[in-house]
Amino acid sequence: MIWEELQGELDALQHAGLKRRRRTLEGPCGPQATVDGRDLISFCSNDYLGLANDPALVEAACAGARAWGVGSGASHLVSGHLAPHAALEEKLAAFTGFPRALLFSTGYMANLAIVPALVGRHDAVFADRLNHASLIDAVQLSRAENQRYPHGDLSALEHLLTASRARRKLILTDAVFSMDGDLAPLPGLLALAERFDAWLVVDDAHGFGVLGRQGRGSLAHFNLPAARRLIYMGTLGKAAGAAGAFVAAATTVIEWLEQRSRTYIFTTAGSPLVACALDASLDLIAAGDARRDHLWQLIAQWRDGVARLANARWRLLPSPTAIQPLVIGDNHETLRIAGALYERGLWVPAIRPPTVPVGSARLRVSLTAAHSAEQVGQLLDALRELA
Ligand SMILES: *Cc1c(COP(=O)(O)O)cnc(C)c1O
Repeated sequence: MIWEELQGELDALQHAGLKRRRRTLEGPCGPQATVDGRDLISFCSNDYLGLANDPALVEAACAGARAWGVGSGASHLVSGHLAPHAALEEKLAAFTGFPRALLFSTGYMANLAIVPALVGRHDAVFADRLNHASLIDAVQLSRAENQRYPHGDLSALEHLLTASRARRKLILTDAVFSMDGDLAPLPGLLALAERFDAWLVVDDAHGFGVLGRQGRGSLAHFNLPAARRLIYMGTLGKAAGAAGAFVAAATTVIEWLEQRSRTYIFTTAGSPLVACALDASLDLIAAGDARRDHLWQLIAQWRDGVARLANARWRLLPSPTAIQPLVIGDNHETLRIAGALYERGLWVPAIRPPTVPVGSARLRVSLTAAHSAEQVGQLLDALRELA
């Protein structure tokens, strides 16, 4: 019975056009991908600066492995905290302007650490409706009351905060929304956090390395100070090109996370060779204005090109970032277009519910500094044919 039930649910997913399938890459991450022996141009990765396979990072990782080995051997609080981890934390704190930073194995685990450490029963979380899945899970884990406000809607949030009788309040948001590419109104959110004495937790998975002066992230983009009530989470597997994540905040907050976060305490510290690669990555990010300028040019080229497509049903979302979704709407049509692009050697992911709201299936084009104007042109040409 339990087997048949499970198979039935898998069949239903297949039927609804919702069954996901992995493709195996036969080479490193980059705009040129080989899958099943076929060469494709990929618009799928979050490697926004093209650092995932950068020679400087590869060299730093190899040198790091020779000096520090491959494994950390234990959790950070036991004996897994090696000098490259400590150096990286200091560098991340200085780069983001916070007193301290704490490394995590993944962004998912960092989010699961932050929310339950700061709020619990009798408290309330105020979360943007389009927040990333890891933030949604973090709220559930915390057992705090879950108050969701319409996407980016400051006045709706203000009403919820005004009405709330919760002991502690925490505002929780993506900085750059992962399936839409738009920015949260961070200055307004911080002002509300100040007014209602709430924490503000910002998940900058898609802004760190890309936005702000020297790629310092979304807070820098808005010129926001490292306020004491602000907790900043950045991931290191996207623009930074490696793996892991960090939380940057006031010293007291970081010390508390170190003492209390189960996803920090009960897990093996990340590989020291990755910390060494990330040290090199931060240097390239800080000196990466040329990469970012090229990325902005590609984004402008893409938006300009899509605006000229004669198809009123497809909707380009108002995104100023490297995430450039084209909303098609129907699941099957989105899959069909993604399939037709794939046939032409262009790999663009079709994002469907439950990742995005029902009826808003989309092609999620992500552009990186490693793409060329010609590659973006090829994608636009193919879409023009299909439109
Ligand atoms: C990718 C992502 C995460 C998770 O980060 P990982 O390091 O990949 O686990 C968290 N939040 C957002 C908004 C993301 O896009």
